[in-house]
Amino acid sequence: MDEYSNKFYKKQLETVQKNLVANGFKNTVIFEDTNSMVDYVTSLIGTGKKIGIGGSQSVRLSGLLENLKSKGNEIITHTHDMNVQTRRNVWLAAQQADFYLASPQAVTFDGELIFLDAYGNRVSAIIFGPSKVLLICGRNKLVKDIETGIWRSRNIAAVKNNIRLGRENPCVKTGKCENCNSQQRICNILVVLHKKPAFTEYEIMLVNQELGY
Ligand code: SF4
Repeated sequence: MDEYSNKFYKKQLETVQKNLVANGFKNTVIFEDTNSMVDYVTSLIGTGKKIGIGGSQSVRLSGLLENLKSKGNEIITHTHDMNVQTRRNVWLAAQQADFYLASPQAVTFDGELIFLDAYGNRVSAIIFGPSKVLLICGRNKLVKDIETGIWRSRNIAAVKNNIRLGRENPCVKTGKCENCNSQQRICNILVVLHKKPAFTEYEIMLVNQELGY
């Protein structure tokens, strides 16, 4: 991306940062690129910690997990071959981790964070449970308001995730959300963090690059 676009997005990220801080998310930091974010989070977490994570592509594509594992941290996450009971146990353990890593599907200019979940394990963890929740948000997630954020969650993030997961939902065929009744539907639970929940600690990383879906 050219330098003028980077400056443009930096201004937008600064607006979002200011409003996230006003909404109680005091620890909100802007990074020029993904690598500097990865270095920061790796240093913040340190060694020997338990780290929960859902299916965040922002986290997985950034290379952060490999860094954290190399520092002797334990990653608590599901794999596709796990049965329901095993997944349930993993997700409950992730909710009691030292850190939980996730990425919202959208963040508004007013500093609201939007999450759309299939099963609820991720939105449970980002609301209450882990000692600290770390939220990573690429500039592609910025939206003007909650309505646009919900649209983005369903028509961009969810469609891409359906393709990634090999789900045979109608959005995969049309490239847009069809508000399906499919058994494999992944858009079941909507959570908006309007303000910081009092008993959960957050650190929010805004990245001036496209990251995840
Ligand atoms: S509601 Fe259904 S059609 Fe819409 S994005 Fe989700 S899975 Fe796809």
